[in-house]
Amino acid sequence: MLYISTRGGDKANSMEAILKGIASDKGLFLPVEIPKLNMDWSALSKMCYKQVALKILGLYFDEFTTEELTQIVDMAYDSKFKASDVVEIKTIGNAHFLELYYGKTAAFKDMALSILPYLMKLSQKKLNDDSKICILTATSGDTGKAALEGFSNVSGTEIAVFYPKHGVSKVQEMQMLTQSGDNVHIFPIEENFDSAQSGVKNIFIDEEFKEKLKFKKIKLASANSINIGRLVPQIAYYVYSYGKLIEKGKIQQGEPINIAVPTGNFGNILAGFMAKLMGLPIKKFICASNENNVLSEFFNTGLYDIRKEKRVFRLTNSPSMDILISSNLERWLYLASKGDSDFVKECMSSLELLGFYGVFDSEETLKGRTEFYGGFADENQVLDTIKYMWDKNQYLIDTHTAVCYSVYEDYLKNSKDSSPTIIVSTASPYKFPKAVCSGLWLKGTLEENSQVLDDFDYMDILFENTKVDIPYGLKDLRNKKPRDLKTIKAIDMKSSIINSLL
Ligand SMILES: *Cc1c(COP(=O)(O)O)cnc(C)c1O
Repeated sequence: MLYISTRGGDKANSMEAILKGIASDKGLFLPVEIPKLNMDWSALSKMCYKQVALKILGLYFDEFTTEELTQIVDMAYDSKFKASDVVEIKTIGNAHFLELYYGKTAAFKDMALSILPYLMKLSQKKLNDDSKICILTATSGDTGKAALEGFSNVSGTEIAVFYPKHGVSKVQEMQMLTQSGDNVHIFPIEENFDSAQSGVKNIFIDEEFKEKLKFKKIKLASANSINIGRLVPQIAYYVYSYGKLIEKGKIQQGEPINIAVPTGNFGNILAGFMAKLMGLPIKKFICASNENNVLSEFFNTGLYDIRKEKRVFRLTNSPSMDILISSNLERWLYLASKGDSDFVKECMSSLELLGFYGVFDSEETLKGRTEFYGGFADENQVLDTIKYMWDKNQYLIDTHTAVCYSVYEDYLKNSKDSSPTIIVSTASPYKFPKAVCSGLWLKGTLEENSQVLDDFDYMDILFENTKVDIPYGLKDLRNKKPRDLKTIKAIDMKSSIINSLL
């Protein structure tokens, strides 16, 4: 399979694309041609999660043998996932909640990051590449921990994670700071996720630095969703859940469905979009943002605008979506414009230099935008949605899933389109216990309580009152000793890597 950069200036095979992460022209890799599913829906409905994952990986990474991929899939999706079949689907009316948070770190990032280290090691082996891999990761909270878990003590790798010190939940921070492993490096930064992400991207294209590393036989790699090796495993759960809805009699074979995704870096929803290009019958993509609603505005107006005078970056109760620059939208621009890399380059340089771009004059992207419904939920709507879901259905959801459901309800009201819809449920409510408790019982009173209670107290309160199980990865977190780290500035990211890794 040949991969090309969205900016037209780089090519790679699967193995090179997985190891490189970002293309040398700063673009993102996509296959020259998106493979087709060619699937018999009734056969799909009988497949288990691992079989679907194997099928999807085989289509994208055809340099690997079926035996190699089978082995990898078996190791990745083993008993670490405490669900009946890796994921669960809970149905409420026409809404099917696809729960992707039964892995070690209790967020959907485990779905891809449990498998990425194996894909990287195998790629290296097949390319006879014996350099050490140094994974650089920017995180808005969940990728960091999932990547640390995935790469901890994996021989021949070092992993460095950068997270916004003031932009993650207490539970997310504790998860990262208590990670064991001799190859683990964690850096809290003063700025927000966007700074961490652009810092990492800039290190990736720093040729002088890479030369220096090459001399020491070290290669940089990415665990963010800019890496195609992270996106492809995510396609599997869309295809799998379509089969399960058929099996359960919720939809007919070939019936179109909608997909609603709480969106940050646009990776998860893009994997759904790729599933559609492969032939999965998806009608509408409901792209849900929190108050950092650049994306929903983009789908409504065609203008992607992060100019400071227009918008302030907000810290919200759905921190993993506190992002203004959604990297993977670049892949959508490429796909929607039928591979127009000059157009993509123009958009990206306008974003970098001017802080915005518009796609009004392209007929294709205009048409493409109508496949998406963009909406956002504010902090209050998130809390109200959590309460509504619990009171009405005894169903506990986290803040990100609440953003998604809230926007889905708006879509229903506006469109009257009640097609079966997959609501992508991205994290356990126990990762954001304070906000969830606040929605359920304590709205408006948290300020008084916040002095005495911490996230772990809220976890207990949540469990006492709902009896919903606490994920195994979070249970004894409170008693672990966190690393004591100094917060750094984004401009010092490179020197921090040099100091701690070289
Ligand atoms: C990462 C994350 C998101 C956003 O996913 P993207 O692929 O970045 O759009 C949403 N919810 C949770 C809980 C996450 O960890």
